[in-house]
Amino acid sequence: MPKAVVVRATGGPEALEFTDVEAKSPGPGELLVDVAAAGVNFIDCYHREGRYPLPLPFGLGQEGAGRVSAVGPDVTGFAVGDRVAWAQSLGSYAEQAVVPAKGAVPVPDGVDDDTAGALLLQGLTAHYLIASAYPAQKDDTVLVHAAAGGVGLLLVQLAKARGARVIGTVSTAAKEELAREAGADEVIRYDQVDFAPEVRELTDGVGVAAVYDGVGATTFDGSLASLKPRGVLVLFGASSGAVPPLDPMRLNKAGSVFLTRPSLAAYVATREEQEWRTGELFAAVLDGSLAVRIGGRYPLAEARRAHEDLEGRRTTGKLLLIP
Ligand code: NDP
Repeated sequence: MPKAVVVRATGGPEALEFTDVEAKSPGPGELLVDVAAAGVNFIDCYHREGRYPLPLPFGLGQEGAGRVSAVGPDVTGFAVGDRVAWAQSLGSYAEQAVVPAKGAVPVPDGVDDDTAGALLLQGLTAHYLIASAYPAQKDDTVLVHAAAGGVGLLLVQLAKARGARVIGTVSTAAKEELAREAGADEVIRYDQVDFAPEVRELTDGVGVAAVYDGVGATTFDGSLASLKPRGVLVLFGASSGAVPPLDPMRLNKAGSVFLTRPSLAAYVATREEQEWRTGELFAAVLDGSLAVRIGGRYPLAEARRAHEDLEGRRTTGKLLLIP
């Protein structure tokens, strides 16, 4: 029987159970894939905890890359043996995953399985944040929190490629070095200093055009205070906890600023949009302009340790589970 990581009752990392599961066959519109690498994302923690509730029991994980082993009815464009990657298919922490063909993309030659399994979810996120949620312009100054994280390192690189000046925040010296290597012009140790006054100083009192905030509870107030008038706060996650309800007048007082709380699904709403973003990401990896840092590889059986490290702020870049 194939193995997978299953959640039977929501909870901490101990809720992850590495177990035998029934062998699957693909239904209409689906592919069966031998998983080569499964990506670990913060959303997996929210699912595991029940913060984003799912019917129990469920197979965890959204993302991976591997080789098609069977093709379901009504699928066109894919064949057994094809290398594919995907970003939004529950049950990806597994030796074998059933993936909707409409969410799968072919992996170009020249992109290895680990990179393909690491790129899509955080890469598509970084892409929509920087190109669409607030499209960073040349000479904008933007603030990226957790700049050495999975989304963070990609976002810094894509922001620099658009000509923006990037201020990053991180919690360790090693993370600071990584954020600078990715292109961050300034890096603030937000574990040591109050970052909002630092941002003011670095922008001659003006503030930034946009803040990309995936940290949430601990950064939100400072993010609002870092914006220039009519700036945009893109709140895209809550790795430190959820932001409490908010009085809209706070946006007025912060300088007639904008707040958005986007999700990836809304920004890959059509196949065309998904192909556009994916195509740009793979092209950037292939021409060497986008580096995908794999900060840790764990055997599938050790998914629990991967979650402990991610939630313990001990990781950089992307974590992979290898079946
Ligand atoms: P990261 O690799 O960025 O890991 C989280 C980082 O957050 C940590 O490394 C840490 O960096 C920072 N952090 C700050 N406070 C805490 C805390 N109390 N506990 C844990 N981490 C903390 O994860 P991902 O790249 O997978 O995801 C980043 C964020 O993006 C998440 O909030 C995720 O939910 C969100 N996301 C949102 C999407 C969307 O479309 N809305 C899609 C994908 C991801 P440091 O040590 O430097 O502070």
